[in-house]
Amino acid sequence: MDQSPSRPIPGADVVEGNAWAKLTSGDHALIEAARRLITERYAENRHHIAAAVRGGSGRIYTGLHLDTYVGRASVCAEAVALGQALTAGETSIEAIVSVRHPRPREQHRDCKVVSPCGICREMLTDFAAGCAVILAEPDTQAGAAPESSGGERLKRVAVASLLPEKYRRRP
Ligand SMILES: [Zn+2]
Repeated sequence: MDQSPSRPIPGADVVEGNAWAKLTSGDHALIEAARRLITERYAENRHHIAAAVRGGSGRIYTGLHLDTYVGRASVCAEAVALGQALTAGETSIEAIVSVRHPRPREQHRDCKVVSPCGICREMLTDFAAGCAVILAEPDTQAGAAPESSGGERLKRVAVASLLPEKYRRRP
């Protein structure tokens, strides 16, 4: 199996083409940081997702999703990671990725890249408008058929493309 540093996730693939921008080695490091955090800190009904953000300085910041007993009080991992970066003084955000750990009942045991939710898309377009978001092709995300669980096809997109016609206050 290919274990070179540029491909830290076994089975991961990079899609090239008009709609899919190629991942950088820094993107792979970002994915690995999120994957490492959720692997270490996964707790059923507490932490299922980790996010990693790369600031303009090149530093990486991570955050865990906080799954609360009352669901609407939960906080996404992206918010925690972004808050870490901004608290540390970052004035721009280059990229973000979120990785989900499987629950015990799920057949596959891979930590997979997942999309930011709608609330996080709002937050990211407010606080990290120029950043790239690393995504997996939909049919390779968590919950996909078992035959596709061995690998992910990854891409990076501009965060603005994930929230077209974003709400703006009119003067
Ligand atoms: Zn979210």
